[in-house]
Amino acid sequence: MHDALVVRLINLRELNICELTDVVINAGYQKFRAKQIWDWLGTGVHNFNQMTNLPCDLRKFLCEKFKLNSLEIEKVLTLKNEEVKKILFRLVDGNFIETALMKYKYGYSVCVSTQVGCKMHCRFCVSGMNGFVRNLTVSEILEQVILAQQIAEKRIGHVVLMGIGEPLDNFNNVVKFIELVSCPGSVGVGQRNISLSTVGLVDGIYALMKLKLKITLSVSLHAPNDELRCNLMPVNKRWNIQQLITACKEYFEVTHRRVSFEYIMLAGVNDSFEHAKSLKNLFAGFPVHINLIPANSGVGWFKASGRMVIERFKKRLEDGGFSVTVRRTLGIEIGAACGQMRCCSSRSNGLERG
Ligand code: SAH
Repeated sequence: MHDALVVRLINLRELNICELTDVVINAGYQKFRAKQIWDWLGTGVHNFNQMTNLPCDLRKFLCEKFKLNSLEIEKVLTLKNEEVKKILFRLVDGNFIETALMKYKYGYSVCVSTQVGCKMHCRFCVSGMNGFVRNLTVSEILEQVILAQQIAEKRIGHVVLMGIGEPLDNFNNVVKFIELVSCPGSVGVGQRNISLSTVGLVDGIYALMKLKLKITLSVSLHAPNDELRCNLMPVNKRWNIQQLITACKEYFEVTHRRVSFEYIMLAGVNDSFEHAKSLKNLFAGFPVHINLIPANSGVGWFKASGRMVIERFKKRLEDGGFSVTVRRTLGIEIGAACGQMRCCSSRSNGLERG
């Protein structure tokens, strides 16, 4: 494995501390050098010469065998009140992805993308509008957090995998990203402060539960019956609601982590008294958290439910004994809100370099 690692010019940020230690030892250096490099990797260093406590020949070795940067900041859009920043990153192949940096009372949170485009085609979401291009690499996901941290000039406390793409459709890279970002000494965001949002790829949920991570699994449900969910989210034709809920119950039993369900509030589509009642029946006896998301303008004919409708819906669910929150809508003005993030080319975004 190590030969393979050193002959190809891979990003050093793809490696975990054990792999890094192997590289360092195989190259004839002492183990503690790996820890020094590891600490540097969590900062935004962009060339090996910035790793000033390493001997010159080690820096030269790393420079010849590895690269460091996968992302370049193309543009940062800020809301007037500084609460949300949308960061547009350029990838080495010329594609673009978006990341949102959000400031809450309890600290900074970063919403990362996991794919360029998306295959899921949820009818209210713009992320897959230009189709699917490719999975992001581990370092491309990780650098979103590291560079956002540099922009914030503060430690990042929370990471949500809710940007462009379906995390469980890029399973291996996403799992390794979680391992790296939560590893102490580097970025060090505890797993309890990481949420992974999925459309509900049931095979991915079963694979994830085996790893017994401490992260929060958030499932985008958005409809309480199969007819409506198939209409809104094509993935429901592959795994229906019953299969999804069964997987989530098992996930809870195995990991002891409460599952969170996201429910986008679409006026006249899924926000009636009957819908709330069906949701209560669906979750009966299952201690879930429900997060109601006021719809942001996405694609198609959907309109957001009114404030009162959302509050009434919330109350009905709470009366059923469920824990319910309404997501704060941050970043609508700059298109950094849920379902508004998309990949784009420099031309379609009106951006010119230089
Ligand atoms: N693919 C994953 C993660 C990305 S989307 C998933 O679907 O869960 C993150 C969240 O934003 C999901 O719950 C998604 O359904 C929601 N979302 C998509 N479009 C939206 C819109 N127009 N308004 C509000 N939320 C939206």
